[in-house]
Amino acid sequence: MTNATADGVAAVHQYLMQIRQRLEKSSKGPWHAVHHYDAALGRYVSSEVLPVAVHAGNGDGGMTNYADDKEYDDAEFIAHSKTDLQKLLMAVEAVLELHQPDEADTRLCAHCMEAIGVEAFQVEWPCPTVATIQEAIEGE
Ligand SMILES: [Zn+2]
Repeated sequence: MTNATADGVAAVHQYLMQIRQRLEKSSKGPWHAVHHYDAALGRYVSSEVLPVAVHAGNGDGGMTNYADDKEYDDAEFIAHSKTDLQKLLMAVEAVLELHQPDEADTRLCAHCMEAIGVEAFQVEWPCPTVATIQEAIEGE
């Protein structure tokens, strides 16, 4: 058994809506990282994520190997976050859209019932798929 409930699933939808709103309000993507290489030093010294105003650097004028620091990878992560998040959000929303309560009996998952194809076998809603998403988002 899971701790999934209709209220919990509603909270998941609310959270996904908040993510979508932040995503839609942000600068138009795709974003990309520009890494600044200092040929004299022979290494990267800073990065920027465009078109957003994110600048990453270790602030020591290239004295240390910037690309070895987390800021370089952070810039790559931030640059890809918009596109990655859009795709992950669409995937989670598509799964939740698929696993809806059955119209005839809202205590059952329409998709799981159809997938199993045995009328006598009932799958309660929230089903294990929806419960897994809810638990992942709740951090369990
Ligand atoms: Zn289901």
